[in-house]
Amino acid sequence: MTTIKQFQTNPYAKNWQARILSVSGNRLVLDQTIFAPEAGGQSCDLGAIRLMDTDETASVTYVGETNGILEHTADSLSPGFVPGAEVLLSLDWARRFDHMQNHLAEHILSGILYSRFHIENKGFHLGATLSTLDADTPDLSPEQLSQLEDQANQVIYQALPVEIRILEKKEDANAFPLRKPLKVEEDISVVTIPGVDCVACCCPHPATTAEVGLVKILRAEHYKGMTRVTFVAGARALSDYQAKHQIVSQLNRQFSADEATLLDKIRIQTEKAEKTKQSLYAMKEVFSKDQALRLLNKQREAALANGRQMPVTGHFPELSLDDLKRIAKYALKETDQPVILSTDQSFAVFLTHSGKSSLRCGQLVREFAVGFGGKGGGSDTQAQALFREPSLRDNFIDILLAQLKALA
Ligand SMILES: [Zn+2]
Repeated sequence: MTTIKQFQTNPYAKNWQARILSVSGNRLVLDQTIFAPEAGGQSCDLGAIRLMDTDETASVTYVGETNGILEHTADSLSPGFVPGAEVLLSLDWARRFDHMQNHLAEHILSGILYSRFHIENKGFHLGATLSTLDADTPDLSPEQLSQLEDQANQVIYQALPVEIRILEKKEDANAFPLRKPLKVEEDISVVTIPGVDCVACCCPHPATTAEVGLVKILRAEHYKGMTRVTFVAGARALSDYQAKHQIVSQLNRQFSADEATLLDKIRIQTEKAEKTKQSLYAMKEVFSKDQALRLLNKQREAALANGRQMPVTGHFPELSLDDLKRIAKYALKETDQPVILSTDQSFAVFLTHSGKSSLRCGQLVREFAVGFGGKGGGSDTQAQALFREPSLRDNFIDILLAQLKALA
């Protein structure tokens, strides 16, 4: 049951008439097909198969070739799909042409790598958005990648013919300067781009290199001792350019720049932001130390008024938990009494001590915050609790103060 591979010799056929040779479950074998199977690192063609002169249509969900049998898998088949029935094949042409563009780009890149850089391509994958090839070399320099990209696009501009020769015997194919050794014995399709590439390949190809339109190498990275080159070609390369142009245009507006000045403006802004960050950090340190001293004075006065040791307490509605921790750090340099600080940000409480208090911070949070509309945790010497609303936080602080009073 040999299927004539019309996709090799008629790669532009979007519709084709065929006859069913066999049916097995949802799988069909046809006398001829324009659907290219999954092969050589790229997925299969998709589309529809309609029974001739009827409305009975099946969607093609997969096409695969095993042991020379090319099978079309359909979503479901109505009873009319029987051996001998005539069918009309319709290709998802947008998908096919995208595959043809990116597939031929791989031929061009691999051919240049082989003929001009003496590097073999050991693997190809045509993904849904990006394609990769594995150049058999541990390193490709930025200059080599740039040359490869330039030369590949030159080959596209030259609109070189893509010559397909179907040969019956291996010996006939071996007469060609093939880039890779042959894997098949008969019905060999040799694909030649004059002066660029020559390899056996059964996929559908555009008639000339011009149809690739554009190829852009996006990156190269080390992969199993080789270099994996990621690229886009054809309409994908245009989409990639459009998306990136949009990003650059948006950045230009944001930084009041153009392509010539954008990077400089971003560098200047980044340096300014870094200086501001350093200055803010310095100010936070000064502020925290100052606030710690203020709270310590208040604590001493309260201790005198109450005639007992008092914790250091303070409320800073606008500050973050990290800011509270910074103030507490300075306070602990001057006192062994517990420090209890709060904020309106996440209605948080931070409690800590130098280790000389018997207050067990983490345990108090687990006992009196978690389960009382709060969450948090910590160690014996420092813990934090965050609450849903301020009244819950204030209750927790009251409990802490009562505990400390009991300990005093
Ligand atoms: Zn090919």
